[in-house]
Amino acid sequence: MSKKPDTDVNRIPEAYRPTAEEAFAANEGRVRKSDNEKGGSKRNLQYPEAPEALPVAVVDNHTHLDFLDGTVKVSAAEALATAASVGVKGLIQVGCDVPSSEFAVQLANEYSNILAAVAIHPNDAARLAESNDLRSAIERIEALAQDPRVRALGETGLDYFRTAEDGRDAQELSFREHLRIAVDHGKAVQIHDRDAHEDVVRILKSSPTPDKVVFHCFSGDQELAQICNDNGWYMSFSGTVTFKNSHALREALQVADPKLLLVETDAPFLTPHPFRGRPNASYMIPYTTRFMAQALKQDLADFCAQIDSNTREVYGEF
Ligand SMILES: [Zn+2]
Repeated sequence: MSKKPDTDVNRIPEAYRPTAEEAFAANEGRVRKSDNEKGGSKRNLQYPEAPEALPVAVVDNHTHLDFLDGTVKVSAAEALATAASVGVKGLIQVGCDVPSSEFAVQLANEYSNILAAVAIHPNDAARLAESNDLRSAIERIEALAQDPRVRALGETGLDYFRTAEDGRDAQELSFREHLRIAVDHGKAVQIHDRDAHEDVVRILKSSPTPDKVVFHCFSGDQELAQICNDNGWYMSFSGTVTFKNSHALREALQVADPKLLLVETDAPFLTPHPFRGRPNASYMIPYTTRFMAQALKQDLADFCAQIDSNTREVYGEF
């Protein structure tokens, strides 16, 4: 594997540069690696340089400020300020379990440019079902969902990559409950769909669904994009669309209804090309957004304005 050169530290946004202590921890290997990436120890844990600012500001509609990747600790205020400096005016903080959903609600009430999504992640749903704790966890999510700063149930859905077959019933039950909560409380839903397109579509078609359905980190092909177009489901593209081998995803982008497009980081995961494997953050949204506009041969400002208008349609005003 070829080692990519480090970024000149001065081009990394200030809040994302390691302090001496954080750099020391990295060298000592006392670092939690992102669980999406293989091989850990040779990863470059430096945050990438800041991109050129977008001409029209957009929102990162799916991120996890509470997940640490690497050693650098960044506060929500610093993350927001850095993102704002490159045309990313806000973000949706997403929950995966009860504590992270509580945290999302707390942040969204503290910061005017953060909104929250709350849910039990499908992999957690399978785990909680085993210990008979899924029901009470979903009840807590329903209580949190009533906060006006919560605009979506998410991330919920199906994950057949990390959860074995015996966890699928629990995932489906949890997914259907999240859809019900979204309908009952007038919220959107953010779907986590990993290797489970067919069943996600089957469940959506056989349940009451909220007005706004978002495929977070859309990973489908042209066929799924067409199904989304036909049903008015939103497709949120992440850095994966920039990856060299993501041909099917780029074909999907070409057929997706522009009115259904959203953009996200899923930070700290899925860092866009050419920084794949390094930590991600909301300030990197311009890399993915620019890539998408170019792929669609659209004027960047027009494209950003469209994304911004779609984002408001789904989540309302901040
Ligand atoms: Zn996520």
